[in-house]
Amino acid sequence: MPAPEPRVWWNGSILGASRSEALYAEGGRVVAVGEDHEVLRVVPTGAERVDLGGRCVIPGLIDAHLHVGDSVRARDSVDLSGARSLPELLDLLRERLAYRPGPVRGGGWDQERLAERRMPTRSDLDRLRTDHPIVLYRICGHVATVNSAALDAAALTDRTPDPPDGAFGRSGRSLDGRLFDGAMDVLPALEDRWFPLSAEAVRAWLSDEASMGVVRLGAMSAIPNELRAVRTALGAGAPPVRVRAYVRAPWFGDLPGLRRELDGPALRVRGVKVMADGSLGARTAWLSEPYSDAPEGPGAGRVLQEDLEALLGAAAAAGASTAVHAIGDRTLSSVLDALDAVPEHGPVRIEHASVAPPPLIERAARHGVPLVVQPSFVPSDRWIEERLGPVRARWAYPYRTMLETGLQLAGSSDSPIESADPWSGLAAAVAPRARVEWAEAVTPEEALGMYTRGGAEALGDPGDGGLSPGSSADLVVLGSRRWVDALSLGRRSVLATYMAGQRTFASTGGGTAQGL
Ligand SMILES: [Zn+2]
Repeated sequence: MPAPEPRVWWNGSILGASRSEALYAEGGRVVAVGEDHEVLRVVPTGAERVDLGGRCVIPGLIDAHLHVGDSVRARDSVDLSGARSLPELLDLLRERLAYRPGPVRGGGWDQERLAERRMPTRSDLDRLRTDHPIVLYRICGHVATVNSAALDAAALTDRTPDPPDGAFGRSGRSLDGRLFDGAMDVLPALEDRWFPLSAEAVRAWLSDEASMGVVRLGAMSAIPNELRAVRTALGAGAPPVRVRAYVRAPWFGDLPGLRRELDGPALRVRGVKVMADGSLGARTAWLSEPYSDAPEGPGAGRVLQEDLEALLGAAAAAGASTAVHAIGDRTLSSVLDALDAVPEHGPVRIEHASVAPPPLIERAARHGVPLVVQPSFVPSDRWIEERLGPVRARWAYPYRTMLETGLQLAGSSDSPIESADPWSGLAAAVAPRARVEWAEAVTPEEALGMYTRGGAEALGDPGDGGLSPGSSADLVVLGSRRWVDALSLGRRSVLATYMAGQRTFASTGGGTAQGL
């Protein structure tokens, strides 16, 4: 990145370590914040001056957990979220095959919304009579249904045993095309072949992040070719955002080589992501007691305790961070057990922590481990009380208790599971919970902290995410005088985004961003 020009933003309202009117940045870092007359005194002649016209500036937003390749591919996938029956779902696929014959990727189906109340299977998809592979992800991303052509391409047969951390759906002895959790591990390499990522598409997607005020994001569960596309995209001009990547556990051994190949200021390969359970939606998250709406089982862990402990040790030895996906309370407690068992572990973050009873929150707080949470799940997970029952539902998404217990929370979208728009996450985090007895709301300041400082901490960039001297000059100019007004306006309120003092986005709508 070229050294940015010294720049001062003045005549505004700077929301950072303290409320002030002006901010001066040099060499990409904040040098001074304060009242106009104080800050302008230290600004050298020749520095660029940005008159905020009374508008508000907040720190650049951080999405600590999303999936870049999946999000880019989702733009081109068949959206099945509107399908209300299996024939409707097949019609959507038929339409796609008619105007663009080739491998088909779809997502967003949810058996709860289908009239048949069951998951699609291979025999449903084979009714389309195509030789092209079809891969359809459930809305949670933890189950996929594929057709026979895809099973063949993946060399999966009726004799293929279930992996230890997942299962193949079967009808009698035959594979029925459903892949649960670890059984989906065949898909990333095949998707790489069937739906290659173009650097242009990745760059367009990353630029869209900047337009929402995002300056930094966590690229989770990445595979090497995906990161190569990200690297090329970031290098095709000034980088629109910074990316901090966590590779899928099977690629952990590639970490040193990937770091040598890819690491730079805009992209850093931070560590490894391990899936310790599944999702509540698919009832594959691991609970300590059975699901209330499926009393036959409590879900299951996807990783052996000794393997998790070994990974924590190996990651520490490699100077890498470990991000552990833990949605059920049983998984959360086993992750905390692993932290107890491997006291020399390196930086660890827990993804989701969706079901967190108070004793586990206290244990997590004692470890000082950040939780990377997704407030946008709250309005989506309408079935929480069915899955967990009224008592355990109170432990779902208890953000207020988590913060009050001293936990560091980082906000994220988990895109493409939810929209990548951080403003919908911010709004969901503060929305009053009129209709539900679960998912505690937080204050606007706390929500902003989750999407700024909390995110920087979780991504291994502590000290950033604020607007005090020494922080990276990452900031968003909003159209309003008070930042809370932007909570209802959403992404439209972003007039300009700056990363390390360089402008990465300027709104063109109505000329409002003139001069920003
Ligand atoms: Zn995720």
